[in-house]
Amino acid sequence: MTEKVLVYLEINNNKLEKVSKEIVSHSKHNFPDFEVIGLLLTDKADVSFLSEDISKLGLDKLFVAANNAFADFNSSLFANTVASYIGEICPDVLLMGATSDGRELAPRLASKLNIGLTADCTDLKIDENKTLLATRPTYGGKMMATIISKTKPSFATVRQGAFKFKPVSLVMPEIIYRNDDINGLTCYVDVISTNIKPEIEDWTTSDIIIAGGLGLKSKENFELIYNLCDLIGAKPAASRAAVELGWANQDIQVGQTGSSVAPKMYIAFGISGALQHMTGISNADKIIAVNIDENAPIMASADIAIPADAVTIIKSMIHKLSH
Ligand SMILES: Cc1cc2nc3c(=O)[nH]c(=O)nc-3n(C[C@H](O)[C@H](O)[C@H](O)COP(=O)(O)OP(=O)(O)OC[C@H]3O[C@@H](n4cnc5c(N)ncnc54)[C@H](O)[C@@H]3O)c2cc1C
Repeated sequence: MTEKVLVYLEINNNKLEKVSKEIVSHSKHNFPDFEVIGLLLTDKADVSFLSEDISKLGLDKLFVAANNAFADFNSSLFANTVASYIGEICPDVLLMGATSDGRELAPRLASKLNIGLTADCTDLKIDENKTLLATRPTYGGKMMATIISKTKPSFATVRQGAFKFKPVSLVMPEIIYRNDDINGLTCYVDVISTNIKPEIEDWTTSDIIIAGGLGLKSKENFELIYNLCDLIGAKPAASRAAVELGWANQDIQVGQTGSSVAPKMYIAFGISGALQHMTGISNADKIIAVNIDENAPIMASADIAIPADAVTIIKSMIHKLSH
């Protein structure tokens, strides 16, 4: 019998959430013995609006639950609906994104199904017994814990950026589309109104990210990161220490309590490379670190380690690029 991994696919602004695609992609490439099944809840009469996204996922099968009531996210209704599909599909592994909706939905679902939940994972593996090994930071990020669930399905939420989305050739999966009857479902939440934030450009998907840390010494020096980014066409980022000093906005913090990123090139100026920071850049293709201390931890993980003063290097790059 083939094992099954069921991925809850989240829709946002009529698009599939990036993290949902990343989870399917990781499962498809790393869990060869598993059938990868998607489940999405929609108010639309068909899923043609998602065809392009879906065709690149490589899903083996897709369940679509349709009802007008699924237009807005409602954790209670969605948990009841997803639970009914789990009863039918009987997956061995259940995965969803650690988005704001996912963080509300997952604990409700775990409680409803009476199963464990490993939240906010940064890595997922399958061992030789086909058991899910879910890894997440623990003890305030000082250690990484790998957790095995004692209950079935093994259930985990995954942080955005933990995996890379690798599109597959355009093939539509078998789609099982159903108009869901929600009348029998008990729902403890009524959505009174929804306030959708305007879509902002997603800097975390940039090919080049240039980050600054405490080694930049001042907010004024940190501003040079923005100038350099403009010249290169990169996006700026910061360590938590730089954010805490008010040099940068928390929105651009990279790491365990910030964003995970997977750029082609990550350039770190004056960042030591604490584990909590490195967790957020584990999928970067190339890391360039500029640090005055050649023994700083980030220098050992960097593809190119430049032992030098960060501000001097940034200023000379700006000078070269603007002349
Ligand atoms: C629960 C928890 C969650 C956390 N989450 C995050 C997170 O999401 N993201 C994050 O970044 N951190 C996080 N941290 C904090 C993390 O542990 C580090 O404290 C932080 O990353 C350090 O930031 P930094 O590298 O800028 O500063 P420092 O560690 O102080 O490093 C500064 C570096 O600059 C170098 N330097 C000094 N002068 C120069 C110079 N002139 N030129 C070049 N280099 C120079 C130094 O050699 C040093 O390596 C978290 C911590 C905890 C406990």
